[in-house]
Amino acid sequence: MASAATSGHIQHVLVVGGGTAGWLTASHLAKKLRARSPGGVRVTLLESENIPTIGVGEGTVPAIRQTLQYLGISETDFIRECDATFKQSIKFVDWVDNPVPGQPSHYHHVFDYPDSSRGDLTPYWLKQAGPKPSFVDAVSVQGMVCERGLGPKNMTLPEFQGFTSYAYHLDAAKFARLLTRHAVEELGVHHLLGTVEQVKRSEDGDIAAVVTDRHGTLQADLFVDCTGFASLLLGQSLGVPFVDRRDTLFADYALAAQVPYGQYNEPIPSYTISTAQESGWIWDIGLPERRGTGYVYSSAHTDHERAETVFRHYLGATGENAEVRRISMKVGYRESFWERNCVAIGLSQGFVEPLEATGILVYDATAKMLADTFPANRQVMPAVAAQFNRHVHYAWERVIEFIKLHYCISRRSDSDFWLDNRAPESIPESLRDKLELWRYQPPSEYDFPSKLEIFNLPNYLYVLYGMGFFTSTEFIGNRFADGDAALSRFAEIEAGAGQLCAQLPAHRDLINKIKQFG
Ligand code: FAD
Repeated sequence: MASAATSGHIQHVLVVGGGTAGWLTASHLAKKLRARSPGGVRVTLLESENIPTIGVGEGTVPAIRQTLQYLGISETDFIRECDATFKQSIKFVDWVDNPVPGQPSHYHHVFDYPDSSRGDLTPYWLKQAGPKPSFVDAVSVQGMVCERGLGPKNMTLPEFQGFTSYAYHLDAAKFARLLTRHAVEELGVHHLLGTVEQVKRSEDGDIAAVVTDRHGTLQADLFVDCTGFASLLLGQSLGVPFVDRRDTLFADYALAAQVPYGQYNEPIPSYTISTAQESGWIWDIGLPERRGTGYVYSSAHTDHERAETVFRHYLGATGENAEVRRISMKVGYRESFWERNCVAIGLSQGFVEPLEATGILVYDATAKMLADTFPANRQVMPAVAAQFNRHVHYAWERVIEFIKLHYCISRRSDSDFWLDNRAPESIPESLRDKLELWRYQPPSEYDFPSKLEIFNLPNYLYVLYGMGFFTSTEFIGNRFADGDAALSRFAEIEAGAGQLCAQLPAHRDLINKIKQFG
């Protein structure tokens, strides 16, 4: 019988790095590859006690619900242990036009999508003349739910189900702790504490082993690089170059601070607030006991001192004593993500500013892809890797386009940052082509053909029309002849919003109840 070495059977995976990406990856692998069962693939996670995790990453998207459920983590435990709250939207403040002091303007990018099986309401909204509700309020109830400070569900609904779609805000450090415990106790991940001091290559160029300070030499068949921005295995050892995308997305630094609420029991917004600033934007996320905030900015357009002044001005009195941490961000992705017997997942793979909470989303999706397409043996690995590389490259390029959309259709002209964001050479060609098309017809399903799209039609519709993008319906009006049906659906949505709001508890009350009785 052939031994594992000669058959090339992949029996042991070593995940290096214990941040959110490392633990999500180890969990997906252990769950799918049955790490606990005889004959399953062994999964070890090694993390350094001396190299801290990045410690930020508090916003998620709805896909996280499927992941928690799939991994077998209860929603109640998650909310209790990670200080989580519900997230139903991102509220974009002052993104559209130059800000007017005392009169902030906003739009919501909500998670609830119009029921497309009943036809797309967008053209009918565009065709409506005269004063009309905002796009989000015309097609969804969720903007109103958010503005009224309500949660997405009440206590009658089972875990992970809401009257509206939702994700969470969470404490990143606590989430990593929960994932650690669950991965080790429930999924059978072997956990080691130690620092990699050297990466050993075999003659054929594969990674043979890592040499650690506390556990000697650790061998594995496949290595997953989850070492954060350092990218110790894929970047440093295998030398896979980094593709810098600051040519499109300028923000390369963040200032982060945790601040207290102004008052005891203050309402918790069930959405992320993203407020545009002269050289970037500020996130503001409500957890039960504190807010997580940060200013993401372009160092080519402002200096660090000015950035801190802008940030502290936003925080006001509540942030007076806040400790502000400056984080440098590597914007872009690796030229390939799977090279030889090493896969990068997490900040080691790629990263763009967290405007749409794409970090955990992409790392979770690619960790799942790795587990789902896990190679049977070393021989087939190049084919699996080539497919993985194509899909992950596609995902990052689409993410970059979607983030850029928020900037390049803004009408702000109050700083070079905003003007430079509209320079055609900074806008990816495929986005420019789509924007040209969408001036004459609204986006449709045909513009999002891949099953692997990270952002889809509704995401684009909310941002485009929230930002006041103009689509002419002058010559296409006769294609949309179901005006009466559309009007009755608009009325249905408006009435439904009122009824739903009457059933939903205040967001903070809902969190308190789940923590108490959940
Ligand atoms: P890290 O957290 O940096 O972990 C790296 C790990 O590698 C650590 O355990 C470390 O000990 C280990 N390590 C490093 N070197 C060695 C070594 N030599 N030996 C052994 N171990 C080693 N994502 C979102 O989804 N939503 C958000 O709202 C969001 N906000 C963000 C805001 C900012 C400013 C930034 C920078 C990122 C944000 N992200 C967000 C991304 C988020 O931080 C990441 O999704 C997440 O934390 C994953 O990080 P990681 O696990 O790849 O790396």
